[in-house]
Amino acid sequence: MQNPTNPGSGIKLVAQNERKRSLNRSFPERTERLSTKHGYSWQVRLAGEKGGRVTGRTHLAVGAAAAMLAAGPAASLTGLALAAAGGAAGAVLPDLDVRDTAHPWRERLARAGAAALLVGALVFDAVSGASLARDAVARGVGPLLLGTVALVALACAARLSAHRGFSHSLLALVGFAAATHLVCPPLAPAVALGFATHLALDALTYRGLRLFWPLHATLSARLCKTGGVADACCLVAALAAVLLVCWSVLA
Ligand SMILES: [Zn+2]
Repeated sequence: MQNPTNPGSGIKLVAQNERKRSLNRSFPERTERLSTKHGYSWQVRLAGEKGGRVTGRTHLAVGAAAAMLAAGPAASLTGLALAAAGGAAGAVLPDLDVRDTAHPWRERLARAGAAALLVGALVFDAVSGASLARDAVARGVGPLLLGTVALVALACAARLSAHRGFSHSLLALVGFAAATHLVCPPLAPAVALGFATHLALDALTYRGLRLFWPLHATLSARLCKTGGVADACCLVAALAAVLLVCWSVLA
């Protein structure tokens, strides 16, 4: 180990770590504390694996687009709004397990966007007939309460799980869809579809995901060699699909 007061020492150590990452290609973007045997330590930001990351905004856009396409041009405006909100919400749920990222505001922005879409869709439904509220009253308070408790429990479990573990599994997909069905049945298909798009996109990356958690097998297509380009292409395609569905409904 070189003298830590020598700037070249830290640079050399970071370069070694970066080389290991380029060989392994399974490390997320993160900050790391490097230390020496002399007790010196310093924080550095390390680049993520090349192509291993799909951003929250892309997940959100793809989830919303998929749910809107599934709803189809024959859907009512309320149905389309609910599809977009459900798809977006389902698409950001798996990444509740993201805690250690160099850009936490990006995750928060995606979650805030999904929440805003959800609130907007509920308000839109309320001012255009309140069919969801009337349906909830007809079903009684029991399913609503049970579904809410289940959603909170699942969100806590996802938050505490290892990255791309439980929250990126079929078990979580089924759990979130079932809990959403108890709270608001019309949202459940869109949430499930948005969730599924997230798993599909993450399965394309080098890191992959544990789809059949608690089994340890990792599913990875290892396709995304240039994550920036792949991510941007997915985002543009999703936004184009959203515009296409909106145009076909409003035309
Ligand atoms: Zn993910």
